[in-house]
Formats: sequence, structure tokens, C-alpha cells
Amino acid sequence: MIDMKFVADVMLGRLAKWLRILGYDTYYQSSCSEEEIHALIREGRLLLTRNTDRAGRTGSKSVLVRGNQVSEQLLGLARELDLRPRRSAWFSRCVVCNTPLLPARESDAREKVPEYVFYQSGNRIRFCPSCGRYFWQGSHRSRMTAQLMEWGFGGKH
Ligand SMILES: [Zn+2]
Repeated sequence: MIDMKFVADVMLGRLAKWLRILGYDTYYQSSCSEEEIHALIREGRLLLTRNTDRAGRTGSKSVLVRGNQVSEQLLGLARELDLRPRRSAWFSRCVVCNTPLLPARESDAREKVPEYVFYQSGNRIRFCPSCGRYFWQGSHRSRMTAQLMEWGFGGKH
């Protein structure tokens, strides 16, 4: 089900971030008109919303997200949709702008990331071709991985 694509309604920015971390194509803007949302649904995206009326109007094209904590929201959604994100897809997408990451060229990475990172991570550094950010395995990612494992996403899928 990794091919499932989402549009996250306002108020679901943190949920969108975690879905991107898990590799899911998740459109999110802090404001989005009704027309934009409908266009994104027509593109094949499932609407995630906290708004009961909006969920009612969009029927099977949406999921009403429950809970105020991102953990409740994400775990509830995973149960409802039976999400089984492949481990290989984790951290494959820019958490900021949702673009799939690409391997960074060594010559670019050498300039863009701290020197110790470059020497530790070498050819595993990736970058976002859209916003230009660089990503690598570090303490921040280790904490996110630990959180995902704690939530039960590390199982043998
Ligand atoms: Zn980006």
C-alpha cells in the first residue's frame, strides 16, 4: 500500500510530516482551498481531515482523523488503512516539501553538509531536488527511527 497518496488538511501538518518520513506521498499546505482539495482528490489522493463536515462531503475519498496527538492520529490511520510502510521507503522523501530525494553527488555533498557528516555518510547523503535540502543518517534520524519502532512500524513487513 506504499502507493497510497494523501492530501492532509490544515491542522494535520505533523501527521503529514510523519507520513512523508514513512515514504508516503503526502500533499500538505497550511492553507488549501476547497477547490484545491477537490483537485487533489481527483488526482487520486485520499483526504485526511479533522473536519467532520468535510469528511462527510467527500465520503470514501477521505478519512476522518481522530485524536489530537500525532501518535494517535498516525496509529489510528495505520490501523484503519492497514498501512505497512516498507522500511526501504523510510526517509526517501523530503519532509519539508514532499519531493522524492535523490542521491547527492559527492562534489555537491562535500560543500553542502558538515565535514564530519560527509566523511561519515559519504555516498549515503541524499538531497531534495526541489528545495535543495540535504539529508543524512544522524542523531535526528536515529531518534525518528526509534520513535517509529516504538510505534510498531519496524515489524517484519
Ligand atoms: Zn524539499
